[in-house]
Amino acid sequence: MASLIIGYPNEIIEIAGAISKSKDHASIFKPYYAVALIHEKEENQLQEVKELGLTKLYVLKTTDKTSTQQLAKAILDVASNQSYKYIFAKSTKMMKELISYVAQKLDMPLSPETNEIIVKDSKPVLTRSIMAGRVIMYQEIMDSAAILLASTKSEASKLDSVQTEIEELDTSKYQDGSIRILERKEKERSAVKLEDADIIVSVGRGFKSKDDLKLAFELADLLNAQVGCSRPIAADLKWLPEEHWVGLSGKKVRPKIYLAIGISGQPQHIAGINNAKTIIAINKDPNAPIFKYADYGVVADLYELIPKLIEKLKK
Ligand SMILES: Cc1cc2nc3c(=O)[nH]c(=O)nc-3n(C[C@H](O)[C@H](O)[C@H](O)COP(=O)(O)OP(=O)(O)OC[C@H]3O[C@@H](n4cnc5c(N)ncnc54)[C@H](O)[C@@H]3O)c2cc1C
Repeated sequence: MASLIIGYPNEIIEIAGAISKSKDHASIFKPYYAVALIHEKEENQLQEVKELGLTKLYVLKTTDKTSTQQLAKAILDVASNQSYKYIFAKSTKMMKELISYVAQKLDMPLSPETNEIIVKDSKPVLTRSIMAGRVIMYQEIMDSAAILLASTKSEASKLDSVQTEIEELDTSKYQDGSIRILERKEKERSAVKLEDADIIVSVGRGFKSKDDLKLAFELADLLNAQVGCSRPIAADLKWLPEEHWVGLSGKKVRPKIYLAIGISGQPQHIAGINNAKTIIAINKDPNAPIFKYADYGVVADLYELIPKLIEKLKK
């Protein structure tokens, strides 16, 4: 039984790293197939995927007007050629919609937000954070499964030594007219990529105004860090775009250092930072819940401490 990896080239490479960690993994998930989604504007990214050692690579060219339904139909077509025991994709908003549809049509159980795939007694076991990250659930796969992987930060690695057969699929063939995309408008995006950041300086409602966030940006610049935030900063106050939002309904991050400034540490925020190596909290309230999770805590007013920290770092 085979595995099918679905995603954009960078996602396929990341998943390949996560599912080929050991010989045991290979014995369970081999042979590997993939459907690579390639946007017409980014056609030159396939080389690395071709070198992974996939048995077969289906290339699905997309445009701004390709609908998720079209993609789902193409993937179901691929899945009708042979039976796949495991389907893998990254747990992004788009893949959640696409793979839920595909899994339902193939009558496969779906495991969303999977943190890790381990092998126990020659069986794949998935780990997932539940109850806002307070508990890790180990989930054994009894038969087949569609698995959505949260950010893994796995190193890219070769899957197999076979020569990859490539087939291009014509997306227009799968348009059935039920949904037609007229225009797609990109959301305003900042260059922030929290999932890959080694250091994150994260801001919460302890900041009194949008203008004050420049303190955090200055500190982040000095530390070569990215800026994250709690939900109210992005969703309610709209001081930062959504890409900065960390937590249960935001990004799950795994930096080496997570510096939480003026963040109280509610479970929904902690759910996004469970995998941070070191958490440092700055909060003026000694009873703030964040201190229960922090490796280092500073009880201080951020408006006094951060300028001093910036001054020191500049020196
Ligand atoms: C379904 C659901 C999903 C959610 N998902 C998320 C999510 O993904 N991410 C998320 O973050 N939240 C999420 N939330 C919201 C979450 O419950 C909290 O409301 C939110 O995390 C609080 O944000 P905060 O810590 O910035 O603000 P607050 O809770 O208001 O905390 C502000 C902190 O700043 C401190 N402070 C104030 N002034 C200063 C100062 N001068 N110096 C230092 N410290 C100071 C205060 O002591 C306080 O601890 C979700 C909620 C629900 C119901």
